[in-house]
Amino acid sequence: MSLNKISEAEWQVMRVVWAKGETTSPEIIASLSETMNWKPATIKTLIGRLVKKDMLGTKADGNKYIYRPLVTEEATLKSATADLFSRVCAKKMGNSIIDIINEAELTQEDVQKIQQALGNKKTVSEVTCNCIPGQCECQEHQTN
Ligand SMILES: [Zn+2]
Repeated sequence: MSLNKISEAEWQVMRVVWAKGETTSPEIIASLSETMNWKPATIKTLIGRLVKKDMLGTKADGNKYIYRPLVTEEATLKSATADLFSRVCAKKMGNSIIDIINEAELTQEDVQKIQQALGNKKTVSEVTCNCIPGQCECQEHQTN
């Protein structure tokens, strides 16, 4: 599934809508304006962009608009993570995952789930480099 890319600021708005399910712009403004130090007009612009990007659905209810998410938080996060990892050589993926685990705050239950996922993980004998020649050392070795 390909999702529209959203900015850091738009992501903050989506988090409010994901948490509330259905909401209005005054509610989103109340959640974000103080903490983020954003003007109501800025937040309304962000909402408008998210509607254009098909991330938010909107319907009129009297004289106000109700917003609801058109994509799940889980799917959006998955897409953003895939996008992030597409920027690094596939051969470095293992080390990146280790870094994430080392830096994350995890419960015993989280660790058990990760161990279970690792236990079920199918492995390959060698990871294929996915870089443009010149972007990493391993690709240079292959073309020599
Ligand atoms: Zn590479």
